[in-house]
Amino acid sequence: MKIDFANLQYQHELYKNEIEEAILKVARNCNFIMGNEVEKLEISLQEFTGAKYAISCSSGTDALLLAMMALDIKPGDEVITTPFTFIATTETIAFLGATPVFVDIDEKTYNINPDLIEEKITSKTKAIIPVSLYGQPADMDKINEIAKKYNLKVIVDGAQSFGSTYNGTMDSSLADISTTSFFPAKPLGCYGDGGAIFTNDEILSNKMKSLRLHGQLKRYHHKYIGIGGRLDTIQAAVLNVKLKYYAKDLALRQEVAFKYTKALANKSNLVLSYIDEKATSAWAQYSLRVKNRDELQEKLKKAGIPTAVHYPMPLHLQECFTYLGYKKGDFPVSEIVSNEILSLPMNPYVTDEEIEYIVENI
Ligand SMILES: *Cc1c(COP(=O)(O)O)cnc(C)c1O
Repeated sequence: MKIDFANLQYQHELYKNEIEEAILKVARNCNFIMGNEVEKLEISLQEFTGAKYAISCSSGTDALLLAMMALDIKPGDEVITTPFTFIATTETIAFLGATPVFVDIDEKTYNINPDLIEEKITSKTKAIIPVSLYGQPADMDKINEIAKKYNLKVIVDGAQSFGSTYNGTMDSSLADISTTSFFPAKPLGCYGDGGAIFTNDEILSNKMKSLRLHGQLKRYHHKYIGIGGRLDTIQAAVLNVKLKYYAKDLALRQEVAFKYTKALANKSNLVLSYIDEKATSAWAQYSLRVKNRDELQEKLKKAGIPTAVHYPMPLHLQECFTYLGYKKGDFPVSEIVSNEILSLPMNPYVTDEEIEYIVENI
């Protein structure tokens, strides 16, 4: 059996006629920048998420950058976040000249541990960026409570969690600003780079819309120092097709995760993913922990089962952050989990036979 990890090929086959037609339509109209499709997508994203404002942009990384620029994060500021995430969450903090301040993760959800946040807050702290890792929102009740107490802003890095919920609220409305990514392998992916920002705050929304267009309010009049951070019209056209089917895709992902968990439940050498009772996950990844991770990964590879490690090295140990002065042992939970974590093939189309074969090989 040959198994595909994200199965983008199969998804394209499913929606092929509509997607290819949508791409061709943009090509024929030649309205490549901020065309109708972009506005249509933003309205659909607002409808889907219930967020008051959805702002499309060039990537999940630029979404984080724009969110922090809108909150005036600048040199000398500190931003609290997790070391167990993709580099984009923290490189954007550093890119703006601010200092990423790491807090270790919760042992069960692998998201930032809110009980360890307060001790890291200083007079320079401006914001907290929880990441909804693998698709599950962090403990937002506690995080928002801390933010309120210390007058901090919260940005949810929802690059992996579009459509997930916490206390019944979609993850795009759990903080001052939420971001997501439409990178092809994310739960809702486009055909290149793309992202979006969500907020219920009109002032922040207007500022981010402007920042994404070189800080202009009207053409060639620039209020802010901004970036070229627009979403391509072609990507918006692809997303307008895929968003229609996303609720179904999400339900299928949840089903696949449920089947994995059921089939793996009696394997005592594995620690399976844990979803808090307040949360639902978008299941960007189905990840489990196992002591002999590298051996298992090699064995599965030989059996035609692709796996991935998200992420093999926590960010406080990355070369680019040497200047922050962290060392091995500073965030023990992140370090253990990065040695043991393994992501299994996850997409809406994993079949029962595939699950059976994967579980057998584990
Ligand atoms: C993918 C990802 C990003 C970056 O998104 P891009 O669209 O690739 O720029 C940011 N944060 C997390 C947690 C991610 O997984």
